[in-house]
Amino acid sequence: MKIAIMGAMIEEIEPILSALDGHPPQSDLAYILSNLKNVRLHSIAGNRYFEAKYKGHDIVVAYSKIGKVYAALTASVLVQHFKVERLLFSGVAGALNPDLKIGDLIAATKLCQHDLDITAFGHPYGYVPEGKIYIQSDEYLRMLAKEVAKEKGIDLKEGIIATGDQFVADPKRKEWIRKTFGADAIEMEGAAVAVVCDAFDVPFFVLRSISDAADMDAAFDFDEFLKHSSRRSADFIISMVEKLIG
Ligand code: SAH
Repeated sequence: MKIAIMGAMIEEIEPILSALDGHPPQSDLAYILSNLKNVRLHSIAGNRYFEAKYKGHDIVVAYSKIGKVYAALTASVLVQHFKVERLLFSGVAGALNPDLKIGDLIAATKLCQHDLDITAFGHPYGYVPEGKIYIQSDEYLRMLAKEVAKEKGIDLKEGIIATGDQFVADPKRKEWIRKTFGADAIEMEGAAVAVVCDAFDVPFFVLRSISDAADMDAAFDFDEFLKHSSRRSADFIISMVEKLIG
């Protein structure tokens, strides 16, 4: 099976590349690139794609850059060029649900675009004609995630993830998104990946580890916890891959 593992930032995929390549985690991009042994590098449309063989299966790892447009581009290349059959997203997010603490893992049940707004024409927030407000992630992959969580004794949360081209660090905006979409976490790529995978009928899974609470302290917390939270998400995704191909 050909599996894609995608993140938005190098920090999010570095632990995955390290694990696939079998060397200890490093966070220096130059180091990683010059030391990857089992990984083939492709440059396509301004992004790098890392192709690895892992236990006889093909894995393609990529980070898109931040935001919905870059995420949609990367997901499209993974599906159309690399012909991946599953896409797993790993990264960090801001918490909307007060039960979510920094480091917690949340798997998206469904995703929406909180900044998509043609309400002037009487449509609901997050909707455009022929589109959907919410896109469901793959049920089988979510079930697999629950099994992994159980085996590892991890309290994996599930919930709605809202995506938009904004780093939200504002209690008012945060509350609005939570109320309008019933969302539990917020980030900047998930729904774009969901739209692409749904359109191409590729089962996908979005996992996020909380880096901040999308409040006044969000930028500070984000910088502080990015690495740790990215790592938590990446470790979980690697375990999911093991289970998926096992
Ligand atoms: N510090 C980075 C910018 C990070 S943007 C820089 O200077 O380059 C935030 C990233 O983490 C996005 O990829 C998004 O998906 C996720 N994220 C984490 N917390 C978020 C929040 N509160 N609002 C929106 N996205 C968030």
